[in-house]
Amino acid sequence: MVYLDHAATTPMRQSAVDAWVEHAGALNAGSQHAAGRRANAVLAESRERIARALGADPVEVVFTGSGTEANNIGVRGLFGASQSGRVVSTPIEHPAVLEVVKALGQTGEDVAWLPVGRDGRISDLAALDTPAAVAAVMWANNETGAIQPVGEVVRRAGSVGTPVHVDAVQAVGHVPVNFHELGAVTLAASAHKFGGPRGMGILLARRSPVPQPVILGGGQERGIRSGTVDVASAAATAAALEEAVAEMEAERARISDLRDTVVAGVEAAVPEVIVTTGEPRLPGHAHFMFPGANADALIMLLDAQGIEVSAGSACASGVLRMSHVLEAMGYSEREAMGALRVTVGRTNTRDDVDAFLAAIPEVVERARAAGAL
Ligand code: PLP
Repeated sequence: MVYLDHAATTPMRQSAVDAWVEHAGALNAGSQHAAGRRANAVLAESRERIARALGADPVEVVFTGSGTEANNIGVRGLFGASQSGRVVSTPIEHPAVLEVVKALGQTGEDVAWLPVGRDGRISDLAALDTPAAVAAVMWANNETGAIQPVGEVVRRAGSVGTPVHVDAVQAVGHVPVNFHELGAVTLAASAHKFGGPRGMGILLARRSPVPQPVILGGGQERGIRSGTVDVASAAATAAALEEAVAEMEAERARISDLRDTVVAGVEAAVPEVIVTTGEPRLPGHAHFMFPGANADALIMLLDAQGIEVSAGSACASGVLRMSHVLEAMGYSEREAMGALRVTVGRTNTRDDVDAFLAAIPEVVERARAAGAL
């Protein structure tokens, strides 16, 4: 199998599996007895290692059940902690942010959308000049890989006192992320995107303002995220993140080389292809549009040859709709319905890229022929 869908999820690193197995027997970190204290020591150490890797203080690390949950707490929680009823965001957010912002909008709040250009990047920050309860902006887009000007967003929002939540789920472990240098109030990450376990998210949350909890309960994780913490997964996440950060520089060069080979190969071999975005982008992302082809057909035809890619996001319903990201970038339905995301990761080699490049010309031709019927 040739797995080129690392942005959807990436296999767990061996270091994470080992850490998980080592601590699988950890009990409730909130218990006062010796077993609880042992679990809590592992949790505290994991928190410290994650904080160090992301330029945060240990107290700022909040374990959650997913990147989705971390985003919900960041956006809804900062909104709830403010007197203002205004929200600023972008139309290219992952649904974990977009749906929260839209839901806030439906309750009569005032939502301002930062516009996005044809290159998939925010093109105008003026909406940040009016104070808001929260500005929610992604570090890097999960479909195109386009890196957003999050530093500028934080500076501009900060000058009028607006707290910023950053969805860094695609960025953490792949490009350098330093929470204190960035200056955001909250930041979301997800372990399964950098070789940790699925079902473990991280919310970095400054001491103040504290996001209001989304779910209520026993008050774990500073009361921001109640629920007994999965200690083994926290340890596995710390191991995966440390390894990802340690090898980041070398891997970024190797992976972006493979990605550039994918892009150049497709451009040379397939007529009428749109390469969706350029630099700055995530190292592993290659995103194309093949107008006239249907992404479902492209994916199935590649899958039949053992090559696994996606249409842009791993859609839960399995029903392909036009991507809201490509729509916001100004692409037509005909263009966007032929979208294909190829994401290179840690386990890939040149052989994987060659297998994809050998298959893609005929796959596009057949998908276009099927689309024309
Ligand atoms: N935000 C972005 C940018 C993502 O790519 C994803 C996952 O695809 C999420 C949030 C959600 O993370 P999780 O799968 O951990 O809920």
